[in-house]
Amino acid sequence: MPNLRQLFLAHVAQTSDFPLGLEIASSEGMYLYDRQGKAYLDLIAGIGVSSLGHRHPKVVNAAKAQLDKYLHTIVYGEFVLAPQVQLASLIAKQLPAPLDSVYFTNSGTEATEGAMKLAKRYTGRHEFVSATHSYHGSSQGAASLMWPKDFTQAFHPLLPGIKHIEFNSDACLSKITTKTAAVILETVQAEWGLRRPRKAWLQAVRQRCNEVGALLILDEIQAGYGRTGTLWAFEQYGVVPDILLIAKGMGGGMPIGAFVAPKAIMHTLASDPILGHITTFGGHPVSTAAGLATLQAILEENLIAQVPAKEQLFLELLQHPRIVEVRSAGLWLAVELASFNEVQTVIKHCLENGLITDWFLFNDRSLRIAPPLIITEEEIRKACAIVLKGIEQL
Ligand code: PMP
Repeated sequence: MPNLRQLFLAHVAQTSDFPLGLEIASSEGMYLYDRQGKAYLDLIAGIGVSSLGHRHPKVVNAAKAQLDKYLHTIVYGEFVLAPQVQLASLIAKQLPAPLDSVYFTNSGTEATEGAMKLAKRYTGRHEFVSATHSYHGSSQGAASLMWPKDFTQAFHPLLPGIKHIEFNSDACLSKITTKTAAVILETVQAEWGLRRPRKAWLQAVRQRCNEVGALLILDEIQAGYGRTGTLWAFEQYGVVPDILLIAKGMGGGMPIGAFVAPKAIMHTLASDPILGHITTFGGHPVSTAAGLATLQAILEENLIAQVPAKEQLFLELLQHPRIVEVRSAGLWLAVELASFNEVQTVIKHCLENGLITDWFLFNDRSLRIAPPLIITEEEIRKACAIVLKGIEQL
């Protein structure tokens, strides 16, 4: 009889030749547990998802309560579904005007796709401008925005009419023209190993979009939901996007995403053609119920206010001559080492010692730290001690 690991290798599609292969049996709070009962402190919150920790009781209870009411029915803005309506209303309440209309999706990628279609539909244009080293999803539309190209060229041809600008470069702004449907940027670039925008630059992009009639789409699929120390990262930069993309932390561990726009823009998806953008599962009642409990808990439990002090503690502790640089944006850090091999060695050491970390898609020399926001001072100290021991042994 093949064991679970052998069946995994035989029948579950792998995305690299060296899967981590942890056998997960259960999870609770900051920890994942394997089949032998070994505890792993989860320093990456699933993968930027479980901001409230794993299986937060409020999220689990909300999902269970919804399971007992109804599961699936038409989800795309036809029926009045209480968990959807309540979540959309609460999201709108937490956003500046005029961002008040929420289109629910299953994932971040689908939020990107929907936003791209909305921008085309609203502006009547088809060109997009995105940043180098950006990641907005793996589907073909979202991958067209991606850079570096060696990640995507195996799948060409992708969408035409995509221009890339360098994040934080004023010189590139002239690429945003009257042909541009939308500029799409991560408010904080994630997979490049955490790069924050210059405030003046992001404001200049906003200004340029206004001048040429292009929409500004901000991708906060990873940066949103308190990760950077404010509910939305864009609050720190004095700009408001025309379309906001959210996902990951939104469902408290359940799959959900959304693109949010002013009703006047969003409503263009309702005609010519009607049903021009639909989804069978996006905004599923159980996911939206969990999403509502997640957002309520994040707001009630005062977690975001604690982010700067926790970030500071990480920065104080993560000091070592072999660390090239630490970049941070709230409870989100990239610890840059000298090479991919060094990062892999530290990740392996951490795993052996019950700590889960990762690297970044476009920056394999940096360790990814993105813990649940509930992480305590003691857990930060424990995690940093393990990371530093791993670095010490390089
Ligand atoms: N945008 C950003 C900034 C992301 O980090 C991700 C996921 N890593 C996505 C889009 C795609 O989200 P998903 O994997 O949920 O489709």
